[in-house]
Amino acid sequence: MPYKANLAALKEIGVEYVIGTCIVGSLKKEIAPGSLVIPDQFVNLTWGRDDHSEADGGSFIHLPMGEPYCGHLRKKITEQSVATQTAIIPQGTVAVIQGPRFSTAAESRWLSVNGWDIVNMTQYPECYFARELGLCYAAIAAVTDYDVGLQESLVIDPRQMGKVLEIFRGNVQKTKDFLLAFIQRAPGLSCGCASTLLKAYYEEGL
Ligand SMILES: [Zn+2]
Repeated sequence: MPYKANLAALKEIGVEYVIGTCIVGSLKKEIAPGSLVIPDQFVNLTWGRDDHSEADGGSFIHLPMGEPYCGHLRKKITEQSVATQTAIIPQGTVAVIQGPRFSTAAESRWLSVNGWDIVNMTQYPECYFARELGLCYAAIAAVTDYDVGLQESLVIDPRQMGKVLEIFRGNVQKTKDFLLAFIQRAPGLSCGCASTLLKAYYEEGL
């Protein structure tokens, strides 16, 4: 994924708020396939990715990442979900694995026992880069299946790909409908948390 190029292009044309979309597996029985989750935390388990930006002119930014997702944008998404009667789970921790392979059952159980909610391969470094560019970022994560460690019936398996793909296609449509409705309603966005953070960083010389 050209994360850096995608986000730099959005920044260049003046975008301030970014809603990413991603496909995830569920790490908890109560998060059923077909659900939409708005993550509020990520755990980066990837390695070797190009996650150093030149946004700081070549020096290293020790960017605070306690709240990686924009709380304001997440709240607006949640409000919109109520207005459009779209069922969403308003918070969750996404564990980001390296891929492209899926987890072993042991790895998957380890993700679950840590209390993390969903698993994915793309939220890092996308979320981080957005923050580093001063963009308010939130994501809509669509749950396709139960991760393998849960021992549930619906997991990624050649015998069940028909069902998983059906949920996948339904999720894509649901996410598109939701985003179009969100944009049409154009909820007043007034945050700028990430750019404020960057400004403070430079002014204070952190
Ligand atoms: Zn924000």
